[in-house]
Amino acid sequence: MIRSLFSWFCLLLCLGPLSGSAPRLEIIKRPLPDSCSRARTPADNVTHLMVHFCSNAPEDPANPYQLDLITKVFASYGVGAHYLIDRQGTVYELINESRVAYHAGKGKLPHPPHYENQMNAHSIGVELMGIGTYEEMKVYFSETEYNKIAKANIGYTAAQYTALKSLIAQVRGRHPAIKLDRQHIVGHDEYAPGRKTDPGKLFNWQAIGL
Ligand SMILES: [Zn+2]
Repeated sequence: MIRSLFSWFCLLLCLGPLSGSAPRLEIIKRPLPDSCSRARTPADNVTHLMVHFCSNAPEDPANPYQLDLITKVFASYGVGAHYLIDRQGTVYELINESRVAYHAGKGKLPHPPHYENQMNAHSIGVELMGIGTYEEMKVYFSETEYNKIAKANIGYTAAQYTALKSLIAQVRGRHPAIKLDRQHIVGHDEYAPGRKTDPGKLFNWQAIGL
């Protein structure tokens, strides 16, 4: 009897991941102050998702991914995205989706709806801890400073792509208007070219199936 119960238990455990549901994604709440967002109104319908990079490399190039430092900078500027994914693929919720996060700023999508300067209202923002190419980062450092960053800290990690893919699936479950294509899932650099360079050339869209 015990043995057969045990077998059933194992079978259920083994079948769990095959049942077709999206993999469970643990999200750690790490709320930013309310000054980084505002309440969402019915007019602020979510149709897009925007990908960003963030780091504290300009402050500490040798140790560029300190969550405390990054969130402190967001808080001090009154900005922030809904989610942040660290280098290990851990997902943090910085701002609840029920609020409009200040992550996109001024810009215009290259395709309709252009959402000129309105992207915050219509998108979920996701920050990935990451650093772009020197060209993309030169507003923050000299080349000498940039070259002090360890190669492993440039670009993105496999764990981040896996987590982002799961997070997108989860967010789309709540906001089905976010179609799984490059018209609806965009980079900050596409919305604000010239002003923003994230997630940049090192971000591999194919790694999240786009
Ligand atoms: Zn950005």
